[in-house]
Amino acid sequence: MKITSIEIYNMDMKLAYVLTISLGSTPSAQNILIKINTDERIAGWGEGSPYSFITGETQATSIEAAKFLGKLLIGKDPTAIEENLNLINRYLPTHPSVKSAFDMAMWDILGKASNQPVYKLLGGKNRQLRTDITMGHENSVEDVQKLAQKFLDQGFNEIKMKTGRPGKTDFNHVKAVRELVGEEVHLKIDSNQGWDLAESLKNARLMEPLNLMYFEQPLPVWNLDDMVRLREKINIPVCADESVFDDKDAFKICKKGAADYLNIKLGKSGGIHTGLKINAIAESYGAKCMIGCFNESRLGLTAAAHLVLARPNMIFLDLDSALLLGEDPIIGGMKYGEKNKSLITVGEKPGFGVDLKEEYLQKWKSFKIE
Ligand SMILES: [Mg+2]
Repeated sequence: MKITSIEIYNMDMKLAYVLTISLGSTPSAQNILIKINTDERIAGWGEGSPYSFITGETQATSIEAAKFLGKLLIGKDPTAIEENLNLINRYLPTHPSVKSAFDMAMWDILGKASNQPVYKLLGGKNRQLRTDITMGHENSVEDVQKLAQKFLDQGFNEIKMKTGRPGKTDFNHVKAVRELVGEEVHLKIDSNQGWDLAESLKNARLMEPLNLMYFEQPLPVWNLDDMVRLREKINIPVCADESVFDDKDAFKICKKGAADYLNIKLGKSGGIHTGLKINAIAESYGAKCMIGCFNESRLGLTAAAHLVLARPNMIFLDLDSALLLGEDPIIGGMKYGEKNKSLITVGEKPGFGVDLKEEYLQKWKSFKIE
């Protein structure tokens, strides 16, 4: 099989809920969609969600990167994923979200060519999954309680709260949510690098009685030494997110003992290929993984869900981005429960079982490499 052409789309979508974190916020989802066409009438879809604060990519740089990678891949066998990704990584060490779109599209093709869902190709087993839901920075205790109540009504039993602000605001908000939801609901916090060691320690001490599941990325990306110190001093497990993009980061973090959990995002790892390596490193170190997302639609989340089905060491799911979107351009793929929105089901169709609604493909600006 050979790649004959690659379509690249500016995948623009509205957000129903603008999530504000320590680093800032994005007013809409400006993603990138890739379609890889082959000479065997099989095509694969992939999505990347460039998140400038974290991955250093914008939609504009991603489109250019995709054109560049597209030219490299014309004529190649899309099912030779290892070889193709080694080539991609050699020519473009950066731009993980774009690479994740290519990785996804190639797995989709391999699945369709083998008539198997991707999780099965990876040796996994289908089951129902459950995701958490994320709450951004809100203004008041009343706001966070109102939002938490909405999440409970939607069926969620795990809430991730964005923290990382100065002073006691975050503590007050987390405490208010804990009081509202009771002890049965899991709560976790994510500071997105917002605090230094002293501030992280102060907040962790305050929040220790609130029974938190874990404390995600308290410190700046590069500061693994302070993550080690923090981890030694507090009774809340520490999860690395922005500090772990790929397998090399995972190895460094595990070797240093800088985190209890690693957050894998396809948009950081450059897709499933490297996501598998991160998980293997974490597992050999005795660490569980989380799988997260940026602003992906159900296409990107479907790929993430297949990876989770294949690797049960990924026990924490934060695959809520499609719930925050104001539109759904995807046909098939992973689905949230009708009544209980925290439940995720993945189908049995070959590849990722995803298609795109024609009206969106018509609407979005696109480029074709052939
Ligand atoms: Mg995070």
